[in-house]
Amino acid sequence: MTSMPQAVLRFAPSPNGELHLGHAYSALFTAEMARRLEGSFLLRIEDIDLGRCRPEYEAQIYEDLAWLDLTWEMPVRRQSEHFGDYRAALDTLAGLGVIYPCFATRREIAEAAGGAFDPDGAPLYPGIWRDADAGEVARRIAAGEAHALRLDSARAIKIARGFGRPLEWPSFEFVDGQLRVTALMATPERWGDAVLARKDTPTSYHLSVVVDDALQGVTHVTRGADLLAATDLHVLLQTLLGLPTPLYTHHKLITLDGRKLAKSAGDKSLRALREGGATPAYIRSAIDLRDEP
Ligand code: GLU
Repeated sequence: MTSMPQAVLRFAPSPNGELHLGHAYSALFTAEMARRLEGSFLLRIEDIDLGRCRPEYEAQIYEDLAWLDLTWEMPVRRQSEHFGDYRAALDTLAGLGVIYPCFATRREIAEAAGGAFDPDGAPLYPGIWRDADAGEVARRIAAGEAHALRLDSARAIKIARGFGRPLEWPSFEFVDGQLRVTALMATPERWGDAVLARKDTPTSYHLSVVVDDALQGVTHVTRGADLLAATDLHVLLQTLLGLPTPLYTHHKLITLDGRKLAKSAGDKSLRALREGGATPAYIRSAIDLRDEP
């Protein structure tokens, strides 16, 4: 009899602000899933956005999570220390001919998108630079003009389908204490030609998360429902890069009076709640972890 491989889960916050109840939910949910799966719990610091991430926020992440009585395996992976890994993935994609430089500004994209949006609500990039003149591209690069690298999604999907691996991902949940896995079809085309390396940083959320989950051997991804659509793009990248697809679950987003917490201003941070006398037990009851799973 072969034994099940060890489950590996991760909580992956960005140190660009203070953690709030939504993060506490995600971290405690992940730890609870790791417990059920008898797996390990990793912490990953997603700090590719060098302009917005701050060391003091990172220090506070450790403090907040320790206060919630969470423990994680060492060493912690900090994405800003691994740009070379993301570069290598971009090289692989370039070798497949599925990325291209894009010099367009936000305004040009918004104007050209014609009212179409990607699942994040950003104007859908209409392929402005996809078939650009190679000489013009080379001239701009030589002149040092800032550019993003975008996925040629139609070509990428065609190539991925040719690999004979279905573009789908396994969704997991516990039902009556039993792990249930359902395969869901991915439709990455709704992201259009997504940015894989930004103008201001040589990678993107989508690329780094896919590379890191594979490098860290993550078997079960647990994250908020706001990232559900992103999984379709992640599966496409995993297929192109020859990386395994983990199992996924997208948990509910914590709301306060019906408002989404993560994006609304003025929501109390865990630090503020702690300083106001809240206990970890209060936090657990406030987010109602028992609700789910
Ligand atoms: N860093 C992302 C966030 O803070 C989470 C990434 C993920 O779990 O895939 O929203």
